[in-house]
Amino acid sequence: MNMKVTVLGRWGAYPAAGEATAGYLLETDRHKILVDCGSGVLSNLFKRIQQEDLDALFLSHYHHDHSADLGCLQYAGKIAMGFKRRLAPLPIYGNSHSPRYNELSYRDYTVGKEIQSGITIDLKGMKVSFFQTVHEEVNLAMRFEYGGKVFVYTGDLGPATQIAHFCSAADLLLCEASLFEHEEGLFPGHMTSKQAAALAEQAGVKSLLLTHFPHIGDIRKLKTEAEKYFQGQVWLAETNQQYEL
Ligand SMILES: [Zn+2]
Ligand SMILES: [Zn+2]
Repeated sequence: MNMKVTVLGRWGAYPAAGEATAGYLLETDRHKILVDCGSGVLSNLFKRIQQEDLDALFLSHYHHDHSADLGCLQYAGKIAMGFKRRLAPLPIYGNSHSPRYNELSYRDYTVGKEIQSGITIDLKGMKVSFFQTVHEEVNLAMRFEYGGKVFVYTGDLGPATQIAHFCSAADLLLCEASLFEHEEGLFPGHMTSKQAAALAEQAGVKSLLLTHFPHIGDIRKLKTEAEKYFQGQVWLAETNQQYEL
């Protein structure tokens, strides 16, 4: 089986009505991995799998739109372990540059694991590597390689990030697009549609999935703007939609 990415949340900063902020489920024949755990993400995760099915959570950084549901995921772990549905604590991977790293371990139910830019870890045959981006706090982009496929998730990043090499030849690049093309520079820690597309083009990725959307403006424009600067396939993240690599 190839890699499959399901969008559980796609908004920046706060969820739109009935929706969620950043959260993605990455699945293979051997893995079920939650990537970011923003506001409303669990509600969509539990449509597909249960807490005890998860192998790991990876957090790009600790901003609330990427971590707001962390505490409830830990409570779900407490219940899953209390009823012996989960037998071992859920590993939660995050950087240790924030004091919030200490929140990743919760009693015996979840266990924090430190990740850093430049390292590669092995998770049941999947290679996961990390790259620090330019953002308001330390954010780690992640590259997942398994079964000959490559999935890269940027987390949050500004255009000053030299990340093209890290994204090179990805089958799917999941990149934030918090701004429209004409809003360049409004929030330097975030990307416009054009900048996300230029990164995809420079890195030579196969397809680009835009996410982390702005609340002001018609998000469909992000796609038409990106298509001007990237020759591959461009998608706008759709909640609960699966993207196969
Ligand atoms: Zn964010
Ligand atoms: Zn952020």
